[in-house]
Amino acid sequence: MRPLKALINLDNARQNLAYIKSLAPSSKIMATLKANAYGHGLTLMATAFNDADAFSVLTIDDAIELREVGFDKKILLLEGPFDQDDLNIAAAYHFDMVIHSDYQLALIRQLDKHKKINIHLKVNTGMNRLGFTVEKVQKIYQQLKNDTRIDEIIFMSHFANADIENGTDLQAKHIDTLLKTFNEPFSVANSAAIVNQISTHLDWVRPGIMLYGATPFDRDLPLEQLKPVMTLRSEIIAIQDIKKGEGVGYGYEFIAPKDMRIGIVACGYADGYPRHAASGTPIMVDGIQTKTVGRVSMDMIAVDINDIPNVNYGSSVELWGENLSVDLVAHHAKTVSYELLCAVSSASRVYYG
Ligand SMILES: *Cc1c(COP(=O)(O)O)cnc(C)c1O
Repeated sequence: MRPLKALINLDNARQNLAYIKSLAPSSKIMATLKANAYGHGLTLMATAFNDADAFSVLTIDDAIELREVGFDKKILLLEGPFDQDDLNIAAAYHFDMVIHSDYQLALIRQLDKHKKINIHLKVNTGMNRLGFTVEKVQKIYQQLKNDTRIDEIIFMSHFANADIENGTDLQAKHIDTLLKTFNEPFSVANSAAIVNQISTHLDWVRPGIMLYGATPFDRDLPLEQLKPVMTLRSEIIAIQDIKKGEGVGYGYEFIAPKDMRIGIVACGYADGYPRHAASGTPIMVDGIQTKTVGRVSMDMIAVDINDIPNVNYGSSVELWGENLSVDLVAHHAKTVSYELLCAVSSASRVYYG
């Protein structure tokens, strides 16, 4: 069996949720499970986050899967219905739907008169991705309030810059206006806002990346209290002794500065390891931190094992995880941990804790 595995520590996941609860003790928590639970696997992560008050996903199939394994809590579809079928299924399974656009309002108008649905009315307060403008939402709210098919209305918005200092100020002004106008529950905070802006916690918070133990901030330091959930682990499958001046891998991006020993790891960009991780990205071999050498291939990476004694076929390699932060690896690939975690799709997952 190819040795690549994503080890998923469910205990750490539960601890991250508990930490989030301690940060936002008066808010209900909607655990974000989109993108296959940020690459960690939908159903088992839902089990780990069962103390959350609600789940959110992107596809109706994911929502159905969670309902059918027995979760009876609120499940929100973050982009709402894409067509009439989605809305009918949502009514049948009691899923909550984001409503962000006129075409979704039209879908609601066609819903059977006897059906009921909870909606999260998305307001565009400055992200400029989804949602109705603050000016438009008053009229839409009144229509929905008068529609007997609509049970609960939760106001929802999303921050563009919660990860930077004062980054929520601009949008918070619009949210304040909404709070003064509408006597309904509000849901606005993502991970970064949960950490940075207590004033945004309101009725619901929507943590994502923090649940998985990575930082929402674009820096390589993880928040200390967060515990990594995924450890991406593989093994050394070949060893090469190369001479000074020889190149390694495609394009010879690394040229050996001296005679040296390198190891080849069974993991590449097809497995979710970022191709843009530059030569020199930290990686652990036999519990010792070293560096990648050369370009990442589709299914392999080379590592410097010159100063690590006794490395052999089958020596263990940690690409990121409990001993090496995914945020640090992401930093070397000029991206964020979100992208790395979500990309781990094909590795077989092993759950423990
Ligand atoms: C993904 C997402 C979140 C979670 O964001 P994190 O930065 O991972 O905490 C919250 N709300 C919405 C609407 C999202 O799409």
